[in-house]
Amino acid sequence: AVALYIVPTPIGNLADLTPRAQQVLSEVALIACEDTRHSGKLLSHFGITTRTVALHDHNERAKAQWFIEKLAAGEAVALISDAGTPLISDPGYHLVSQVREAGFAVSPLPGACAAITALSASGLPSDRFSFEGFLPAKEKGRIDKLIELKQDPRTLIFYESPHRILPSLESLEQVFGADRQMVMARELTKTFETFLTGTISEVRAIVASDPNQQKGEIVLMCHGFTSEADEEFPPKSLEALQLLCAELP
Ligand code: SAM
Repeated sequence: AVALYIVPTPIGNLADLTPRAQQVLSEVALIACEDTRHSGKLLSHFGITTRTVALHDHNERAKAQWFIEKLAAGEAVALISDAGTPLISDPGYHLVSQVREAGFAVSPLPGACAAITALSASGLPSDRFSFEGFLPAKEKGRIDKLIELKQDPRTLIFYESPHRILPSLESLEQVFGADRQMVMARELTKTFETFLTGTISEVRAIVASDPNQQKGEIVLMCHGFTSEADEEFPPKSLEALQLLCAELP
């Protein structure tokens, strides 16, 4: 059917490209790629010869109309990014919103996403979480962002790049405190897949003392805020306290 298909690609292990993803990528008329050279390697590995067209942050708004014309001409389009699920800290938002506005179907395929892959094995609460993408590169912006998130009760998920991992862990310790639980997931689905678990200060110390832990692709996850007051006063005691307070003059 004529639609824009959103197709996740592997985040490190080529075997994670689903059979359906392979089929859709083979059958569409065009594949919109974040980087045609990068995706060319993946596509040729699977023997997919579909025409690729670049769609990245810098040309996305302008290029979206061109893809809408292709859809109008009856050509199905697939969107992929360099790795994982498009639109998740990757291009695609403007294309999807413009294609929907133009009245064409957008059909998503499920597949690899580093945030969900990391969370699922982290041991942190997964009933509520907030995906925060990349923290700001500059310290001031990063600290401000973390202050905004400090009291959030949900598990927080961040993407991080190797050259900013230490400054980011330092900012996390500074704002969230040394003792909050966290998990750092590195090189998921690859040979050196690693999970570091502990308090923020423990994880920071391990990463600071081992250059190998500063390499590769990284997801940081922090336990959500739990107020110490809640721990000191369980719900029953709080109720009693409220009753007592109500009686006070
Ligand atoms: N769209 C992708 C997704 O669905 O996960 C994310 C793209 S974003 C530009 C790249 C970031 O994702 C990396 O800096 C890292 O934080 C995270 N990431 C991607 N692959 C990863 C992997 N194999 N292990 C850990 N983190 C990964």
